[in-house]
Amino acid sequence: MAKYQKVKGTQDFFEKSILKLRYLENTMRRIAKNYGYNEIKTPIFEHTDVFVRIGDDSDIVTKEMYTFLDKGNRSITLRPEGTAAVVRSYLENKLYAKTSPMKLFYFGPMFRYERPQAGRYREFHQFGVEVFGKSTPLLDCDVIISANQIFQELGIKNYHLKINTIGDNESRKLYSEKLVEYFEEHINHLCSDCKRRINKNPLRILDCKVDGNNPIIKNAPKIHDFLNQESKDYFSEVLSILDYYQVDYIVDENLVRGLDYYTDLVFEFIIESNDELDGLAFCGGGKYANLVESFGGMDIPGIGYAIGVERLLSIVDSQDGWNDKIENDIDVLIISLDKLSKLKALEIAYLLRLHNIPTEIDYEHYTMKHQFKLADKLNPKFLIIIGEEERKNNIVSIKDNETKVEETISQEKIISYLKGKLL
Ligand code: AMP
Repeated sequence: MAKYQKVKGTQDFFEKSILKLRYLENTMRRIAKNYGYNEIKTPIFEHTDVFVRIGDDSDIVTKEMYTFLDKGNRSITLRPEGTAAVVRSYLENKLYAKTSPMKLFYFGPMFRYERPQAGRYREFHQFGVEVFGKSTPLLDCDVIISANQIFQELGIKNYHLKINTIGDNESRKLYSEKLVEYFEEHINHLCSDCKRRINKNPLRILDCKVDGNNPIIKNAPKIHDFLNQESKDYFSEVLSILDYYQVDYIVDENLVRGLDYYTDLVFEFIIESNDELDGLAFCGGGKYANLVESFGGMDIPGIGYAIGVERLLSIVDSQDGWNDKIENDIDVLIISLDKLSKLKALEIAYLLRLHNIPTEIDYEHYTMKHQFKLADKLNPKFLIIIGEEERKNNIVSIKDNETKVEETISQEKIISYLKGKLL
């Protein structure tokens, strides 16, 4: 057993798993770019206060943050999510003065001290988008559609979009008061966390992780009975746009999401499967009318979502969905059969690499047998073979590893030959 082991709830990515992670990242980046999002990269840690803003009663803030004092006695927190830091940066860099809406995406590791289990890690990656400055049903739908397109392009099957509205500030206030009344009547049937939440944030009780099937919670008053006309109209417009674009959804009146900053629209993408991933949310998001203001900024609306990349990876794994998406990156392996040929091999490899053709050579063996073993491992698209005879005649043997067709070409022609075939 290795002397040192990774910290519980973290993962190493290498070989296939790193190719999968990068494939997901690249797909999400490409689609975000197509939808007009620009990347933002914020630090991995922030002043703790930044995250306390997202809800001082949420599980994330009260139980799951990696918080420490640095040597200057500042309270620092490893980011548990992306939105708060992006809002901080948006205000600090006055991005609101640039364009509106400001459409941003981020990709990076997040840290939460959670109990490790399927799809739940202490370090995990999120890809997320945030849009600030405008609030229209069309924009909201465009945001949801961009997430949906990512899942479609990845070929994910058997997932559904759950969506709900928790109303604007006015509706939410009225509803909160009703919930407080209702839960106070049934306080004895609530878990200790929820008892505490009654007065701080009664909506969060609907999202209880301790006892999600509690009938008291299931039968609680529903937000839809307390929505004002504006909130109702907004939500039905969102739904009708989704209908128009044939994006399937399920309206779930108990969906409130874990963080306090959401208003109006909330949504989650959930996977259905016959393994331990069943019911897992792999993307969550919503609108936030008050978040920017609560950071001391202006009254600027926002909407965003975050995708859990490890969960996405497990889903594609469980659906056998990689096919040829994570091919080995090596295009050419050069096999060389004596000492001088090895020098020539390195020279040819250098040239190919200058032309962006990923190339590997064998550094130590002289026999075909050993080097074919390496070829089996790397599975390159082409094999170049060079021995004494080829060296003397300035030629190489070049073999298409798939069709097994072998040709002899002059060394000057290698680049043009491969470029023609690798395109
Ligand atoms: P949240 O910020 O809690 O809404 O999370 C957004 C997405 O990140 C979720 O839908 C998950 O896919 C993912 N996620 C959240 N927590 C974890 C975790 N501990 N490990 C892995 N993925 C997570």
